[in-house]
Amino acid sequence: MAHIIAVTNQKGGVGKTTTAVNLSACLAVAGKRTLLIDLDPQGNATSGLGIDKERLEGNLYDCIIEKVPMTEVLQKTAVKKLHIVPATMDLAGAAVELVNMEGRETVLRQVIQSIRDMYEFVVIDCPPSLGLLTINALVASDSVIIPVQCEFYALEGLAQLMQTVEMVRDSMNKSLRLLGLVLTMFDGRTNLSIQVTEEVKKYFSGQVFNTIIPRNVRLGEAPSHGEPITTYDPHSRGAEVYKKLAREVIDRVG
Ligand code: ADP
Ligand code: MG
Repeated sequence: MAHIIAVTNQKGGVGKTTTAVNLSACLAVAGKRTLLIDLDPQGNATSGLGIDKERLEGNLYDCIIEKVPMTEVLQKTAVKKLHIVPATMDLAGAAVELVNMEGRETVLRQVIQSIRDMYEFVVIDCPPSLGLLTINALVASDSVIIPVQCEFYALEGLAQLMQTVEMVRDSMNKSLRLLGLVLTMFDGRTNLSIQVTEEVKKYFSGQVFNTIIPRNVRLGEAPSHGEPITTYDPHSRGAEVYKKLAREVIDRVG
C-alpha cells in the first residue's frame, strides 16, 4: 500500500510544487511507483509535468465532487512509473462545494483508497492555504513534508501549520506524522540563508531533512518546459539534490 505524503505550507512561493514534482519524479526514477496528486487549483504541478489542461477529459474536481474514480482521470507522464492526477481551476469550485458536503474533510481519503494498492508513494501538492482542500490532504496522508524557504519570514506561519497538523492528528488521522521540513532556495552566498537554516534547525531539531535545496536556475526553468528536473537536466545540481531528498524520504518512511 502506498505511503501518502502531503507537501504543504500555507505560504505561497516556498517551493511546494517544485518539491512535490521533483521529489515524485526522483521517487519514480528510484524505481518506486508514484502518483502525484495536484491539489492546487492553480494546477502548477499539472502544467509543470507537461499536461495540457485544455485537453483534459477529467481532473481532480471530478473525483472529489462527482466521485469519478481516480483511475479515469490520472495521466501518464514522460517519467516511467510516475502518474499524475491533474488539477484545473475547476478545483477552486470544489473547495467551495465541499463546505456543505457530508464528510467534507474525508472525501480525498475515500477517493485515494481505491488506487492505493497501485502505488508505493502518493505525493499531494497542496494549495497555499489551510482551507478544506489542505485539511483533506492532511486527513488522507500518512506523513507531511513542509518546504521552508530560506528567507527572513521563514518561521512565520509554521506554528499555525504545526497546530493544524496536530488538530488533524488528534481528531481525524491518528497516524499522521511529520516526515520533515525541507529547506528550499538556499543561497550559500548570503548570511540570511545561513542564519535561517540555523534557526529552523534549532527550532525543529531532528525534524529537518539533511538535504538542503539550493537556489538553482535549472529548477526554476524546468516547469516552463513541462518537465521535472530529472529529464530537463538530469546532471544539474537541482536533480542531484532532489535525488538525495528522495533517498532520505525512502529511508525515513522505512
Ligand atoms: P509554491 O508551490 O510553494 O507556491 P513553487 O514551487 O511554485 O512554490 O516555487 C515558487 C517559484 O520559485 C517558482 O517560480 C519556482 O520555479 C521557483 N523555485 C522553487 N524552488 C526553486 C529553487 N530551488 N531554485 C530556483 N527556483 C526555485
Ligand atoms: Mg504550488
